[in-house]
Amino acid sequence: MNVYDSHLVSQFLLASGYVPAADVRSADVVLINTCAVRAKAEQKAFSHLGRLLQWKRRKPDLIVGLMGCVAQQEGSDLLLRFPGLDLVLGPRDLTGIPRHLQALEEGCIGIVATNLDVKPPASLNTPGYFNGRVTSTLSIMEGCNNFCSYCVVPLVRGREASRPPEEIVEEARHLLSDGVKEITLLGQNVNSYSHGEGGEYRFPDLLRSLSPLRGLLRLRFTTSHPKDLSGDLMDCFVDLPNLCPHIHLPFQAGSNRILQRMNRGYTREQYAGKVMRLRELQPKISITSDVMVGFPGETAADFDLTLELIKEIEFDNLYSFKYSDRKGTRAATMEGKVDEKEKSLRLAVLQRMQMEISLARNKRLEGTRMKVLVEGASRKGGQLTGRTDTYKVVNFNADSELTGRVVEVFIERSSANSLWGTCIK
Ligand code: SAH
Ligand code: SF4
Repeated sequence: MNVYDSHLVSQFLLASGYVPAADVRSADVVLINTCAVRAKAEQKAFSHLGRLLQWKRRKPDLIVGLMGCVAQQEGSDLLLRFPGLDLVLGPRDLTGIPRHLQALEEGCIGIVATNLDVKPPASLNTPGYFNGRVTSTLSIMEGCNNFCSYCVVPLVRGREASRPPEEIVEEARHLLSDGVKEITLLGQNVNSYSHGEGGEYRFPDLLRSLSPLRGLLRLRFTTSHPKDLSGDLMDCFVDLPNLCPHIHLPFQAGSNRILQRMNRGYTREQYAGKVMRLRELQPKISITSDVMVGFPGETAADFDLTLELIKEIEFDNLYSFKYSDRKGTRAATMEGKVDEKEKSLRLAVLQRMQMEISLARNKRLEGTRMKVLVEGASRKGGQLTGRTDTYKVVNFNADSELTGRVVEVFIERSSANSLWGTCIK
């Protein structure tokens, strides 16, 4: 989501005559995009900002801006806390950026733009901007109305607002004309997308409008909320040939008591039931998820229920986090805070369990042939890399001219996170 926002801003700046700098030291304007979801991400943003402001002492004309959710959350306090910071820009108010930069260049001191009550910005669809990219994201909505008790997103990204389908289709066409082959639709709660007076145009309708676009080899979406996973959406995995058989479906906890305290709106039984139905309809579907340990009030017995659910579902992959208090959320004021050491212990146990599951699931793929969309050179080993439609990373030796094509790879080796093989077609 943040990467998508950074690309939007970069297009707005290009259109206003700015050009990308070779590196931070030669830049006249530096904007840091931030995430406030977990404490760790926020701390990272602040230490980066601190280093940048130190550099600014040697280059006083440098314009420094902080954008994104941390900017929204802290607002004008940031200007006091970080002398030298010029711009605080919330995640909804992106279109005004060239105007703010101009004002700063003309001598204005300290701008705070954190209006949340604006419609999601449309991309400028700058021709050629995505040339050379095989995959891309496309944000279809902003904000969230769910108010999970631990989550800062509704506070810093505002209420849910869906973009009009025509605008989304046009942006998808633009990405495809730049050569993109795979589009991932983004939203904090992507499957609650709706449009029209009574919201009658739903997420499955959008998928059906996008799927036939010429050149779209693969369509994905993230993140889905289990409570909004309808039968109609499940049917799309059967009906739409280029919709990838993978869903990222965060479950967060395996204890119904904790799920209720989290305000998630489903039980573990409902979650498991939906996964079962998905697997019946589309047996090859891969399921990934987010889970948290150490939510306030989580007992050892609650944690065991989380482990049991992980064992029962056998996720393909899990993103796991230690709960951290976020300012302004309900959970931050809840009793029963779990000790940091205990959280780390629980996380380690959970990650070990998932590692074994991921290993076993990937091992089963050895000796099979898998279709891979080639994304380019892998980070190490001089091989090519790409993903299966089920979102598994595959590395293999082949000609780099295959980038952007779907090839068949014979899988020879696996780890918990990747597969290795030989390209056969
Ligand atoms: N909209 C998505 C993702 C939200 S943030 C969803 O509903 O699932 C991504 C993940 O960060 C969440 O799924 C959750 O597991 C984690 N997260 C959110 N708030 C957190 C907090 N306060 N502490 C730790 N992890 C958190
Ligand atoms: Fe946060 Fe819950 Fe909304 Fe996801 S659905 S963004 S976790 S409030």
